[in-house]
Amino acid sequence: MKNLLDKLIRSDIKALTSYKTQDASGYIKLDAMENPYSLPEDLKNDWASIFKEADINRYPDPSAKNLKKQLSKAMKIPEECGLILGNGSDEIIQIISTSLSRSGQCVMSVDPSFIMYQMTATYAGMNYYGVPLDKEDFSINMTLMLKMIRNHKPSVIFLANPNNPTGNLFPEKQILEIIESTDGLVVIDEAYGPFHNKSFMPNLKNHNNLLIMGTVSKMGLAGLRLGFLVGSEQLLEEFEKVKLPYNINILTQIGAEFALSHKEVFDKQASIICLEREKLIENLKKLSNIKVYNSDANFVLIRAPKGQANFWFDELKKSGILIKNLNGTNSLLNDCLRITVGTEKENKLLISSLIKISKI
Ligand SMILES: *Cc1c(COP(=O)(O)O)cnc(C)c1O
Repeated sequence: MKNLLDKLIRSDIKALTSYKTQDASGYIKLDAMENPYSLPEDLKNDWASIFKEADINRYPDPSAKNLKKQLSKAMKIPEECGLILGNGSDEIIQIISTSLSRSGQCVMSVDPSFIMYQMTATYAGMNYYGVPLDKEDFSINMTLMLKMIRNHKPSVIFLANPNNPTGNLFPEKQILEIIESTDGLVVIDEAYGPFHNKSFMPNLKNHNNLLIMGTVSKMGLAGLRLGFLVGSEQLLEEFEKVKLPYNINILTQIGAEFALSHKEVFDKQASIICLEREKLIENLKKLSNIKVYNSDANFVLIRAPKGQANFWFDELKKSGILIKNLNGTNSLLNDCLRITVGTEKENKLLISSLIKISKI
């Protein structure tokens, strides 16, 4: 078997590890930036009844017309823009890398950032450069960024805004400077759009190399797998050719269309999450010896006392709370833990557990 693998599988693929998540059964789940609230009970009944009518013996609409219409309205997508849908924004990132892949070309982002930019660049056989963020406050080192752009001429720059896992928004002025300094595409990944009001959507009309990516995952529909990309119609027509024809299944199409027609329910949940985030940050800051980073997303990054992150993570797990341990994943994230904002009750439990742990 080893011979077979050596002969057939690309060495750069063999060097990867597949994407794994932690087993979360039985835990308070604060590890994956999910919305802790579900649909209200009365909507759940209507939700169930639309699925009863689904023609699951038929292929779904490959253009997902009805869903696109509802999504455009809910996400305030400018009328003149093109729109494509993906099986999560993960798939869209892959479509972009696949379309741009040519030997010697590269994908760029900041580091640390969302892992899929690098993963899909590798799948597509492209080089990847992550420009290190400032180690104190995770801001962009603009001198270095502009130099890397000049030297490597990236085909695409992905910027998660706010960034995952750091939680900070980058200043508009810096992003505009990056957009104007590159001949490649710039994709602003607004996965955390529900938790701030700094969307780059209004800038689309001024820059033909700018694309805005979004998802319904973080607003409360992670299980449906639906992401979207907005930008120049001509550019998106090219990406459309790479997209598998039926990538958005019928249950996702009708389910998301229904959910987005009740967008106000999700907006309300997002505003509760934002309030809870501020309370959580305030309470975390009361713990001594830890650094708490501000956040415009639905998670908070903290730095535990030196050498303590693994212990804190394990102790939290023993008390039934699952978060994300980033210690050891990146030299800028030593001792770092990422906590998703939960319900009021979950956040209180988290804080009381952390108080106990910090006293051990
Ligand atoms: C969570 C996340 C995504 C993933 O979105 P899906 O639509 O669930 O695939 C994309 N970008 C960033 C920055 C994220 O944190």
